[in-house]
Amino acid sequence: MKRPILIHPDPRLKKVCAPVADLSDDLRKLADDMLVTMYEAPGIGLAAPQIGVLSRLIVLDCVKEDGETPRPVAMFNPEVIASSDETNTYEEGCLSIPDQYGEVTRPKVIDVRWMDRDGNEQTETFDGLWATCVQHEIDHLNGKLFIDYLGAMRRQMITRKMQKLKREMTRT
Ligand code: ZN
Repeated sequence: MKRPILIHPDPRLKKVCAPVADLSDDLRKLADDMLVTMYEAPGIGLAAPQIGVLSRLIVLDCVKEDGETPRPVAMFNPEVIASSDETNTYEEGCLSIPDQYGEVTRPKVIDVRWMDRDGNEQTETFDGLWATCVQHEIDHLNGKLFIDYLGAMRRQMITRKMQKLKREMTRT
């Protein structure tokens, strides 16, 4: 089931999310809903707070080429356990900040540990777009948005645009 995505500014996007203690069918269903919502948007990553659920859960699929096999991943309690000194700069966007983009520099390669949907611990090394996406989504779990990496002027400009967009959305 597709869920509505919260648009910045929203207090729920600024909260530190709670760890997932026990996996349940409800949480697996939530992960499925998030993947449906992400693919429909369309986007390459989504964090639970973006649909108003303040739990440490992210989903992503950074396979973008047509004809390549999709790789939907759901990560419960994801954690970056190592990151490279080498960095990468990507033009980032966010489903909670539609049509706004900004360059963000982050470690290029990261090791991530998480619990999968069966409750098993997974560890994997991510590089390039996958690494950027995982870091962007984990930031959401800590109440941080990509615009927090931009200058104050640019951040305020984007926030004002989003406030205007939200006013327009409630009017229709
Ligand atoms: Zn985002």
